[in-house]
Amino acid sequence: MSDFNAAAFRQHFPFFAAQPDWIYLDNAATTHKPFAVLETLDHFYRQQNSNVHRGAHKLSQMATILYEEARSCIQQYVNAAEPAEIIFTSGTTAALNQLAFGLMHTVLKPGDRILISALEHHANIVSWQLHCQRFGVILDVIPLDSQLQLDQSAFEQLLTLHPKVVSLTQVSNALGTVLPLASMLQAAKAAGAITVVDGAQGIVWDKPDLQQLAADFYCFSGHKLYGPTGIGVLYGKRALLERLTPLLGGGEMIEQVSFSHSSFNHLPARLEAGTPHIAGALGLAAAIRFISQFDVSQIKSYKRLLLKTFHDGLQHIPGIVVLSPWQDNAGIVTLNLQGEHSADVATLLNEQRIAVRAGRHCAMPLFDLMATAGAVRFAFAPYNQISEVEQCLKALTQAAEILA
Ligand code: PLP
Repeated sequence: MSDFNAAAFRQHFPFFAAQPDWIYLDNAATTHKPFAVLETLDHFYRQQNSNVHRGAHKLSQMATILYEEARSCIQQYVNAAEPAEIIFTSGTTAALNQLAFGLMHTVLKPGDRILISALEHHANIVSWQLHCQRFGVILDVIPLDSQLQLDQSAFEQLLTLHPKVVSLTQVSNALGTVLPLASMLQAAKAAGAITVVDGAQGIVWDKPDLQQLAADFYCFSGHKLYGPTGIGVLYGKRALLERLTPLLGGGEMIEQVSFSHSSFNHLPARLEAGTPHIAGALGLAAAIRFISQFDVSQIKSYKRLLLKTFHDGLQHIPGIVVLSPWQDNAGIVTLNLQGEHSADVATLLNEQRIAVRAGRHCAMPLFDLMATAGAVRFAFAPYNQISEVEQCLKALTQAAEILA
């Protein structure tokens, strides 16, 4: 049993009262929002709305204070050294693109290597690829072993090539695999690399301690952590953030502008051109305050209970092929019904109002390696109930019968 009160947790999310017929298991795509987040957004736009850092008036000054408080809240949650190390972006994708662009223009030289893993989301592949050819930088990939885990001896070998950057996901969005990040980042640092973590799924699984983790950069999105869409974070160590060439130019990020030359503002403004998603930043801080009330280890063990219920039930359904590992899994199970198209299975589940995702989950190279055309993904959140898992198992059993 778990000490976590999932029913009470669920009460914080108005979506479930509004849509009582739905079983929502697409949490790796995005999560629902608690009252605390919705009320923060509503309150900001109704009562506090103003631009930041610009106005001489009190409202703008108030909005600026709230925005900077949101930054400090996030800094404290992830244990960054100072608020200026938290750069607001529109999400993980934007953070990784800023990072790739910034490092390519300053730190990386032709012939340098970047190391990613076979478990990456497209955001941590394509953002580097966009520049590799032009800058003459080589992208290496840590392969999988026969258990679909990262091949650690191949990783050690690849480190002997002295990659300048090692960029790893914390949790595979496609399989739920939790990477042995602490040891991999330490090894990467020991090999002299700049370390980057795609924490889009990881931040939901574990609270990062950026003073402990050997990560120079850590990226995440608000919407997977019960916050709004369109807001995310690029965390970086100050000295490295200062070396990044800004991807976006415009207002706020400058110190002086003339037609011949511009100089840049100090951090964090330097990497936040234009009007930011102010309400989004406040909403993300509200999400972080909300989730901070709960015990991470209790949530983890509750997710393990959901996984175990799912695992045990799947044993009774003929033709299930599970791709995900059951050990060190963050609550995401990807599977197929033998011989069936994943979209067909998801369509049948949709008819029973069960929301899942089918396909290749923004991880096409991984699916190529697994020689699998796609799969159905069940991503659990702490507001999911054991009874929902049971209903989902029933629906899968029916799907198997219909498609057989
Ligand atoms: N990285 C991982 C591991 C993800 O799961 C996702 C989203 O699914 C992303 C990156 C991209 O996040 P976003 O679309 O919020 O920018």
